[in-house]
Amino acid sequence: MSLTKEIKRRRTFGIISHPDAGKTTLTEKLLLFGGAIQEAGAVKSNKIKKGATSDFMEIERQRGISVATSVLAFEYEGIKINILDTPGHKDFAEDTFRTLTAVDSVIVVIDVAKGVEEQTEKLVEVCRMRNIPMIVFINKMDREGKDAFELLDEIEQKLNLRVTPLSFPIGMGYDFKGIYNIWEKNVNLFSGDSRKNIEETIEIEDVSSPELEKLVGDKAAKTLREELELVYEVYPDFNRDEYLNGELQPVFFGSALNNFGVRELLDCFVEIAPTPRPKESDTRLVKPDEKEFSGFVFKIHANMDPKHRDRLAFVKIVSGTFERNSPYLHVRHGKKLKFSSPNAFFAEKKQIVDISYPGDIVGLHDTGNFKIGDTLTEGEEMRYKGIPSFSPEHFKYINNADPMKSKQLEKGIDQLMDEGVAQLFTLELNNRKVIGTVGALQFEVIQYRLEHEYGAKCSYENLNVHKACWVEAKDPKSEEFADFKRVKAKFLAKDKRGQLVFFADSAFTLQMTQSKYPNVKLHFVSEFE
Ligand code: GDP
Repeated sequence: MSLTKEIKRRRTFGIISHPDAGKTTLTEKLLLFGGAIQEAGAVKSNKIKKGATSDFMEIERQRGISVATSVLAFEYEGIKINILDTPGHKDFAEDTFRTLTAVDSVIVVIDVAKGVEEQTEKLVEVCRMRNIPMIVFINKMDREGKDAFELLDEIEQKLNLRVTPLSFPIGMGYDFKGIYNIWEKNVNLFSGDSRKNIEETIEIEDVSSPELEKLVGDKAAKTLREELELVYEVYPDFNRDEYLNGELQPVFFGSALNNFGVRELLDCFVEIAPTPRPKESDTRLVKPDEKEFSGFVFKIHANMDPKHRDRLAFVKIVSGTFERNSPYLHVRHGKKLKFSSPNAFFAEKKQIVDISYPGDIVGLHDTGNFKIGDTLTEGEEMRYKGIPSFSPEHFKYINNADPMKSKQLEKGIDQLMDEGVAQLFTLELNNRKVIGTVGALQFEVIQYRLEHEYGAKCSYENLNVHKACWVEAKDPKSEEFADFKRVKAKFLAKDKRGQLVFFADSAFTLQMTQSKYPNVKLHFVSEFE
């Protein structure tokens, strides 16, 4: 099949939600539609259970699952769908942010009773900043929850989105009778008997038909007609271009657990969701249908078997075709590499593939060549942009607790940082090493993994830092910058790439510093122009 045809039939997306909104359940139902799995319960949740901070088996279990569910691919009506897994736990938010650089669109799952929650806000903000097309799925309609209009208002206000419902609920909770599908213009009934069944939904074509009364009763029929009138009046018509530009977000209602409203979501998704999108590199915009292969690493996963320290680097293919055993340029290292056993993902299995297309993810075995953000090309010197590090918020000095194992410790830290588990900083003043993380859980993970995978021991010492910011001097030769460096010498460090970082011990210090040195910019992400 030609490259253009393969591109046209691919949809690569992520599902984002606050934990417990129903991401795993929805993923599973989507896979069931694709015939990729046979039964419910097959997709494991990669959730960190409560109180898992000290439970290392739990961390290992979670890592195991997150390898398996990193990419879940399936075919639906001739469309190849790649779901990229995004951990919901806030301590792993950075993983999710990075994965969002590799998706072409997202589905946002919201719990009808809880509405917009904290993680939803953060993740949607990232998607909004990148103009990623979003579809919203309001889940758990079989439970009592918020009124549909109230919820749509909340989504608009808290998430700063412009929504338009493409389906609308008939009742809710105990009285949930089904949904009117605005997109397909039909009614889909949720009956007591079909609670666990995928197939048994009755459809009627026209909402003005008296058939509606027969099916849902007079009261619900009347309410629905009134509500739909309001929907048409208040919300903008769906416009695909606006959706694709991230300016309009269609909303669906349903119940993932009962597999209700999921097919409607999927059918609309395959029709409207974007095919693999072009991506900006440092030199130019790269289009998927270019002949030459290019891609970037957005995730690295360490092997679960500590005896084989190889890792799996997840590469999103941006353009051309990726072929097994072809030499590709590792741009940062300036050398060509061949991959004899690239993995593709199908449901929860991985298998070796000869050829992959834009939108696909390949898993490359790696012995330490890659780090997050690396670009592969057929020879072109360019680097993909847009995988920044985020300002960490938890900091500790890291010390070597076993002087005989300093080499191992160094290597372990180095590799874990490449994987993106945390960030390493070196203080300018005394060369002490500081680990900064987005979540507190990572410190435990690092200590555990250093010991079990590298045979090294570390200890931590607290460090009072509120936030680390990347420093950019408008004029590196200015008096102002020299003064900044002198006065703040104790609080300056270098990150792994040698970029200057300022450790602010409080929000107040941050503010004061910024106003005292207006020409020294403090950034919360490591990539800035
Ligand atoms: P995740 O943390 O977002 O992956 O959420 P899960 O998919 O694990 O779901 C969290 C809980 O909500 C589980 O107990 C699910 O069974 C339940 N759940 C998911 N979807 C629905 C739904 O449509 N209705 C009801 N009542 N419960 C649901």
